[in-house]
Amino acid sequence: MKLIFLGPPGAGKGTLAVRVKELLKTPHISTGVIFRDAIAAKSPLGLKVKAVIDAGKLVDDETTIALVKERLSQADAQAGYILDGFPRTIAQAEALETFSVVDKVVNFDISNDGAIERLSGRRVCRKCGFNFHTIFNKPKKEGVCDFCGGEVYVREDDKPSAVTKRLEVYRVQTEPLIDFYCKKGLLVDIDASPLVDEILVGFKKALRI
Ligand code: ADP
Ligand code: ZN
Repeated sequence: MKLIFLGPPGAGKGTLAVRVKELLKTPHISTGVIFRDAIAAKSPLGLKVKAVIDAGKLVDDETTIALVKERLSQADAQAGYILDGFPRTIAQAEALETFSVVDKVVNFDISNDGAIERLSGRRVCRKCGFNFHTIFNKPKKEGVCDFCGGEVYVREDDKPSAVTKRLEVYRVQTEPLIDFYCKKGLLVDIDASPLVDEILVGFKKALRI
């Protein structure tokens, strides 16, 4: 199944994707993870996008579209995928239609306050990228990843000033995609406010799997 996870930052797209990829045995393709890996590796892509991402703004469409197009051409993405964090603009959604046919778009429904609560407590493993939370999902040992022993840190763009910017960018640039995909009959809404186990139940029900 070819799925898009759509929703504001902090909606839990990445957290649910980790569960769904095991269930459906499809790759989880997160543009945010690809960009963060590139930044950590100090690759040309990483150097190009670091300042934009740290400020909570969007990477330009041309760069992002080329990256996703290349990733979706790989063998493991032919039978299905979870696209997390792409598309984020109408231009990206239109470009995607030229190189892949999506089955469903899962819209994560959460309030602004709910998203802020998630983002402000989010902690990420520098090595494996696992998402923890200071209240909802603490690592067993503070600052250390349960799974790989990596350092657990606060993303630069999870700091308050960037969070406000990202939510605003979402409302202006990404939210119009809800209507875009609704009109195409592809949209499925799920309640993203509960904990991940419950979101997964709602997800399975919504997709009848
Ligand atoms: P979240 O969903 O928590 O906001 P992501 O990890 O998906 O975070 O993305 C982090 C950042 O990476 C975004 O704020 C943006 O700067 C950049 N980014 C990710 N995906 C895209 C995209 N499709 N288009 C433009 N920029 C993107
Ligand atoms: Zn880890």
